[in-house]
Amino acid sequence: MARLRRRLASSNNALARALGDLLSSSRLDADVWDDFEATLIGSDLGVGPTTELVDNLRRELAIDGVDDPARAGRVLHAELVKLVDPSLDRALNDTGADGLPAVVLVVGVNGTGKTTTVGKLARVLVAEGKTVLLGAADTFRAAAADQLQTWGDRVGVDTIRGAEGADPASVAFEAVNAGVERGVDVVLIDTAGRLHNKANLMDELGKIRRVISRRAPVTECLLLLDATTGQNGLVQARVFNDVTDVTGIVLSKLDGSAKGGIVVQVQRELGVPVKFIGLGEGVDDLAPFTAEGFVDGLLG
Ligand code: GDP
Repeated sequence: MARLRRRLASSNNALARALGDLLSSSRLDADVWDDFEATLIGSDLGVGPTTELVDNLRRELAIDGVDDPARAGRVLHAELVKLVDPSLDRALNDTGADGLPAVVLVVGVNGTGKTTTVGKLARVLVAEGKTVLLGAADTFRAAAADQLQTWGDRVGVDTIRGAEGADPASVAFEAVNAGVERGVDVVLIDTAGRLHNKANLMDELGKIRRVISRRAPVTECLLLLDATTGQNGLVQARVFNDVTDVTGIVLSKLDGSAKGGIVVQVQRELGVPVKFIGLGEGVDDLAPFTAEGFVDGLLG
């Protein structure tokens, strides 16, 4: 426990430092709790979850001091794990219906890390022995299909692409069609993230889904959120969840100075599990999300 306190105290993560302060306070007075609460809110954990956590901790820990720091550390850890709901199913739905490929649609605002994540996810699936095909349905950005194909080449899977400016739904259909014909296990589809207008976004994603499902149903729709954008991520998650059926979230850029507390808010509000986290720009920088790992990360 002394080691945990030292590690927390020297962390450059504000939340970890606040936890360290809390655990080393000889008196847990109102000021200590206020500071702790402010840091939690500043970490994008949200007001509701923060209040709940602080109330639980205040109840569980000795009222006027951390009489048993080892127990305090365990209580804190357990309460944080509960906040991220360890019971949510976080497995990628990568089994297609009736011998058809699984179809994974990757959506999100531009720059959140969709293309990169498709590449990393392909790597994960290939390593599991699955056959994979990529579909470049972001036809608006000139370099998007090239970027995806580069990832495909790196991972050793084919990329189906259309002409620049082609209808994204037709490219997505071509990819799924090729996936069915080739008998691959999973088709990963990269989409454009043009959030200039909610109605357009709904039309675009709705059309992609409709057209694809003539060939094979979408088994998973992963929403990319950039952890460095904080509360903005929550706003984006609301919009995307309104316009399409999001089944999982990938939180990218948690390797930076991100405030991963947004995980808690998004899961609570939308009931959608975070399934993967992005930890860098490299091909192996995608990890399954686990509540334990998340809490360890929060604790610095
Ligand atoms: P898209 O526009 O949504 O397809 O986003 P991209 O996949 O092109 O990613 C945008 C930028 O974010 C690129 O420079 C990526 O290398 C970078 N990026 C993506 N995921 C991560 C991550 O997990 N960590 C870091 N540090 N950078 C990332």
